[in-house]
Amino acid sequence: MKRLVLLLLSFSSFAQAVPEQVLHPNEVRFVTANAEFTLLHEMGHLLISELQLPVLGREEDAADQLGFMGLFLLHGRHRDANFYAKLLDVADYWRLEWQRQRPDAPEIHEWDSHALDAQRFFNLACLAYGSDPRQLEWVIQMTGLPDERAFYCPEEYQQAEYAVNWIRQHFARSPDQPILHHLRVDYQPPPQHLPGASELLEKVRASGELEAIAARTSSTFALPRDLKLIVAACGEADAWYNRISGELTLCYERILYFRELARELPRLRQPFLQDSRSK
Ligand SMILES: [Zn+2]
Repeated sequence: MKRLVLLLLSFSSFAQAVPEQVLHPNEVRFVTANAEFTLLHEMGHLLISELQLPVLGREEDAADQLGFMGLFLLHGRHRDANFYAKLLDVADYWRLEWQRQRPDAPEIHEWDSHALDAQRFFNLACLAYGSDPRQLEWVIQMTGLPDERAFYCPEEYQQAEYAVNWIRQHFARSPDQPILHHLRVDYQPPPQHLPGASELLEKVRASGELEAIAARTSSTFALPRDLKLIVAACGEADAWYNRISGELTLCYERILYFRELARELPRLRQPFLQDSRSK
């Protein structure tokens, strides 16, 4: 566990990579939390594929769980108010996707390999609440998580935690095993037309956080081949792991999209804040 914690801890100052001058601190936190979760979700796919982790249920659900549990490893023992707010930020991203009004709203495909946005929101809200039910009862109120689900959330969190510990025990590289393969970071040029992309690249690069997480991945697990973590202009706000080429792609557009969505947070949370003030 310790090595995995170290692997993820080093990524925490990624917050500094978000252009701050135009954002409220809550928005910076939202963007950072969701950038971290996106990377960790894709790292989940990478580990499932490269280490051939056993998966029951949909891989997308497993990657969400691995990504979310990765946030706990990333922030180590710092389970303070700011960390809990980040957990809610990650769940709320899916609530925003689910509830936001937009002319180009994508069609819902029930056959999709991903859960519906509303389900991902409740699944992550449940894991957040279940991680510390005594401290996080307010998550139930803020998310509208029904009692029928909330009752089982501590158990859901414990199952996910058990699985992560199991992976650590079974797949960690032993200290006497040489590091034969590496995860390496490759920055591609940011899109010229995208405001903030060049600044984002500059700060991510200067922080060295992606290199740190890649190096830790290479030393924590015995990777079966060389892999790449690519920061690229994709033409869409996306991220993915290509299991054939062994390339994890994180799009500039994805991170900048979180910045756009962050502006809708006050509207999303206002009713709950008013509720709590009147009681
Ligand atoms: Zn995925």
